[in-house]
Amino acid sequence: MAEFLYIHIPFCIRKCNYCDFLSFPYDHDLAQRYTNALCRELELKKVFAPHLKTVFIGGGTPAILPETCLEQVFSVIRKQYIISPEAEVTMETNPGTVTREKADLLLSLGVNRVSLGVQSFSDTELKILERVHTSSEAVRSAEILLMAGIKNLSLDLMYGIPGQTIGTWKDSLHRAINLFPQHISAYELTPEKGTRLTKLRDTGVLVMPDEEEILRMSSLALDILQEAGFEHYEISNYALPGYRCIHNMNYWDRGEYIAVGAGAHSFLDGCRARNANSLSDYIGKLDNLIIPEIDSARLSPADRVREFIMLGFRQREGIPLNDADDLNLDITTAAQQLIEDEFTEIINNRLRLTRKGLAVANTVIIRLLQNLEV
Ligand code: SF4
Repeated sequence: MAEFLYIHIPFCIRKCNYCDFLSFPYDHDLAQRYTNALCRELELKKVFAPHLKTVFIGGGTPAILPETCLEQVFSVIRKQYIISPEAEVTMETNPGTVTREKADLLLSLGVNRVSLGVQSFSDTELKILERVHTSSEAVRSAEILLMAGIKNLSLDLMYGIPGQTIGTWKDSLHRAINLFPQHISAYELTPEKGTRLTKLRDTGVLVMPDEEEILRMSSLALDILQEAGFEHYEISNYALPGYRCIHNMNYWDRGEYIAVGAGAHSFLDGCRARNANSLSDYIGKLDNLIIPEIDSARLSPADRVREFIMLGFRQREGIPLNDADDLNLDITTAAQQLIEDEFTEIINNRLRLTRKGLAVANTVIIRLLQNLEV
C-alpha cells in the first residue's frame, strides 16, 4: 500500500517559455469540471493508499483554483483517506496567485508546507523566462505566506538562465536566504525539447550560459546555502535540519505513491502508470468512473537497477549498499575506479558522489551503469 499522494493541477495564468510540465491556460468552467473528475479519481484510488503520510499538490499552479474547488478537493481527501496527524501537506504556488485570503484558506485546509516558484530575484531574468510576476511580488508572496503562519516554506530558484551572471545568481541566493525559508530548491535551467526557450536558443535569440559558468553557479549555490545552514540533501535541494521534503524523498527512495490528475504518474506494486494528458480524455474517462491510466508497465530488473543508481546518486547521502545486496549488485567493485578517481566515496555504508563527482554526476552514473553491465 502506498502512503504518498500526488495531485496534479494543470492550469497556469500563461505558459513560461521553458516549461514542459503539463499545463493549460486557466479557464473557470474547465477548472470546475477538472476538479469534479479529480475528486472521482481520488475516490477510486483510495483503496491503494488508505493511510497517507504526505499529500503534494503540484502543477501547473494549484493555488490558481478558486476557493470552492480547493475546498472540494480537500473535503474528498479528508472523507476518503486517513491522513496522519504529522502528515506533510504541500502545495506549490506562484507569486502572483498568493493573497492573504488564499494563504489563510490553504492553512485552514491543512496545507503546512508551501513551495513558491520564485526562480529569480532579477526582473530581467524573470522577463526572459516569461514568468508572470516580478521579484518584488515574489518577496511579497513569501512574506504573506510567513505572516499567515506557514512554517515550512520552500523557494524554487533557477540557474543557467540566459543573461544570468555569477553576480545576479549570488544576489538571488542571498535574497532567498533573507526571506528565512526552511527549504530552497536550486534547479539548473535545461532547454527541453519542444519548448519556446529551445526555439529561442536554436535561433540564436537567447544564449545559454556555458558549461563552465553553470558549474560555477551550482558550486556557488552549494557554498552559499551550506554557509547559511542548509543541508544539501539532494542534487537540487537544500533544507534546514528537519525540513527535508518527505514527499520527494519517497520518490528518490523508490517508494510507492499514487497520483491523481491529468498526466500524473503513479508507482505501485513494481509498476509505473501514467494518466491521460488530454483533459477531455481525463475528464471523459472519470465521468464514466474509469481510472484514466493510459500506460502501465512493470519495471524490468534492468530498469530497477537503473532507477536505483540514478535516484540513489541524486541523494547526497548516496546509494544504500545494503539495498544493493538485495538487488544482487556488487556496487563496491563496480565503483572501485570511480572511488580511486575521487568521483565517489563510501560513507556510512552508502556510495555517494564527492564534490568533484557532483560536477559530472551524469558521467559518473553512466560509468557505474556500464561497469554493472546494465
Ligand atoms: S508556472 Fe510552472 S507549470 Fe506554469 S507554465 Fe510556468 S513553469 Fe510551467
